Amino acid sequence: MKKVPLHVQILLALILGAAFGAFFSVDKNKLEITFKKDSGQIVESVSNWSTASIIINDSTVSKFEPNDQIAIINKFKHYHKSSKNSIKLEFEKEKRKLEFSEVIAVRKEHTLATYIKPVGDLFIRLLSFLAIPLVISTLIVGAASLSDFKKLGSIGIKTFSLYIITTVIAITIGLVLANVISPGNRIDSTSKERLKSSFQEESAEKAVESLDISIVDFFVEIVPKNPFDAISNGNMLQIVFLAVIFGITLTLIEKKKRDTVLEFFDGVSDTMIKMVDIFMLIAPFGVFALIAATIADFGFEIISTLIWYIAAVIIGLFIQTYIVYGAMLKWIGKVSLKDFFLNIRNAQAIGFSTSSSAATLPITLDCVENKMKTNKEIAGFVLPLGATINMDGTALYQGVAAVFIAQVYGFDLTIVQQLTIVITTVLASIGTAPVPGVGIIMLVMILNALNIPAQGIALILGVDRILDMIRTITNVTGDAAVAVTIASTEERAKLRK
Ligand code: ASP
Repeated sequence: MKKVPLHVQILLALILGAAFGAFFSVDKNKLEITFKKDSGQIVESVSNWSTASIIINDSTVSKFEPNDQIAIINKFKHYHKSSKNSIKLEFEKEKRKLEFSEVIAVRKEHTLATYIKPVGDLFIRLLSFLAIPLVISTLIVGAASLSDFKKLGSIGIKTFSLYIITTVIAITIGLVLANVISPGNRIDSTSKERLKSSFQEESAEKAVESLDISIVDFFVEIVPKNPFDAISNGNMLQIVFLAVIFGITLTLIEKKKRDTVLEFFDGVSDTMIKMVDIFMLIAPFGVFALIAATIADFGFEIISTLIWYIAAVIIGLFIQTYIVYGAMLKWIGKVSLKDFFLNIRNAQAIGFSTSSSAATLPITLDCVENKMKTNKEIAGFVLPLGATINMDGTALYQGVAAVFIAQVYGFDLTIVQQLTIVITTVLASIGTAPVPGVGIIMLVMILNALNIPAQGIALILGVDRILDMIRTITNVTGDAAVAVTIASTEERAKLRK
């Protein structure tokens, strides 16, 4: 029997996983309550309540309606963390009262689709496990092989320029779409209040997470005090600094020693890339499980409320991915678009299902080096750098989100403020770690710079998971497009000589 190609397997896994998740979806009117009883713990389910209340010290602290599943979970978490007293939950259902005292946890129910999520988590862990040794070894070899400083300088400048230019274009597209579509003025006030109260606690947590990010410190901290700390903490920007400096300096030492070290890292890089092939054997299962769990757990009702915001982000990401990169590849790189987009499919699918450019890096390297046959040194230098600092999808989404939140809160953003968005977003997208959900934390920094209430992210938290998946496709495609464009211009320059 003919073997089904990997990209077809992954595509099938995406489609089947989505269908499986939709079939075994999590009931939005059901909660699983864990509470203490007779010195043991009991788990019981409640569904279809007409009202629900959280009671502390015999007084009702919050009251909810039938569709408030997420609000109940988030509020409970908040009180559970801050209150030393035992929490009681009371539900009214068909005129009956259900009471649970000494509640320990409140969560959504599990279904077959969410039970298989560990298979997906395992897949992400395998890919993330490769990311750091791969970045270090490919960047060291990449930087050292572009040995003469003129060449490294020219490629370095091209790489940074294209990364910055594409990011600025992405934010501009985001800002234009958000101003034209004006999603914040199209959302009704009941939905606004509902979103704010459902995600109030979660948004406060994210705001705290972003508090310790200051722009000056951020640049100073690119230099690690201890390289091994940087590696063990997985701080990508510091790791990139370490690898580039190491690679460049390596070219300055005695040839015999340099070659030994280079050969070692080249071997590490090849081993890591070989591991990708092995791990990709479970890719279809991992992708299936990740998509099934996400779809099963996703509150699709929220999509209709935020439809204009989602539309603005998705249209923008589509333009950036296919038109902006397409134009760059065609006119600057003189590369066939069909070849590029066909060869990059696996990286896009893995980016979408893992929501992490770092976890996808091994696949992006494989697509660009082996399928696009791009110069190994250039890909090894440009891609790990891009996975860390180039996040056009994230930047575009942050632009739309900032304007959306400003519109909802009734702020009119001036041109100067919109320019502030461009500058802070470029910096934020460089600082965004290439892992799921960090884009929204950096958004808080942008909102603070504009004096827009950061708790506004409560409005968009409910759809962030899905948009994170889509913006990661753009992030990954952007890195690959820049690598292929630069390699092709270098190739042509060589031929002309
Ligand atoms: N998930 C994105 C990435 O890894 C980052 C983000 O936007 O949160 O590329």
